[in-house]
Amino acid sequence: MPELPEVETVRRGLAPVMEGARFVEVVANRGDLRWPLPKDFVQRLKGQTVSGLGRRAKYLLADLSSGETLLMHLGMSGAFRVEQGGVPQPLDRHDHVILRLASGAVVTFNDPRRFGSMDLVRTDALAGHPVIGALGPEPLSASFTPAVLARDCRGRKTAIKVALLDQRIVAGLGNIYVVEALHRAGLSPFRRAAAIATATGAPRPAAMRLVPAIKQVLTEAIARAGNAAYRGGRFRVYDREGQPCRRPRCTSTIRRRTQAGRSTFYCPVCQR
Ligand SMILES: [Zn+2]
Repeated sequence: MPELPEVETVRRGLAPVMEGARFVEVVANRGDLRWPLPKDFVQRLKGQTVSGLGRRAKYLLADLSSGETLLMHLGMSGAFRVEQGGVPQPLDRHDHVILRLASGAVVTFNDPRRFGSMDLVRTDALAGHPVIGALGPEPLSASFTPAVLARDCRGRKTAIKVALLDQRIVAGLGNIYVVEALHRAGLSPFRRAAAIATATGAPRPAAMRLVPAIKQVLTEAIARAGNAAYRGGRFRVYDREGQPCRRPRCTSTIRRRTQAGRSTFYCPVCQR
């Protein structure tokens, strides 16, 4: 399942192709992905120019000249393929949506498992969108600070790990990067979320460590995604049960425990 760094990497790959480009031909090879495509999907896209390709959490957002935004989610197995030269390659049976651009480039959305989705929403109504509008701050934005995280965790009895997976607290974080960030910050995933804030919601030192740790693991993952040569051994705790902790001078081993239905990997010694 792609997480935020993978989606951001897809955005960076697509942006130079799509930004400023006009859709001259749009093909939808079926009427639904995870959910039905919006009404008149092809007609609403055709002839439109993309003014910008952004990202919110794990959604890609293509702002269109029509005043609508094309929302795209990769789901479990969705991927975009770009071909230059205007000649689409032979159709794979999982090529569901094909966008031919005035530049001659062809952008194809392929999704074998079909958990991906596309929707069209008025750009000025995005803030009121049931999913997009409810999202918390972007973790890599300047608005995601220890003060903001502490305020939102204040009084929460749920575990900090579970709170960080709540998209209303911080947008787009998944299991992998939450466990990595908690290890980086030396924080136990089982601590109450409220423990990173004072009674009035001010950030404690734990919040001061946690926010930079989140930004760091995401930034490193994005940098890595652009470098395919660098793979295995990239996580410090994720999927490393029984293996040595990678914190310098820590001699403990990584453990796994199920928390709210998801695997939590942690070091019982250096995460407190
Ligand atoms: Zn350790």
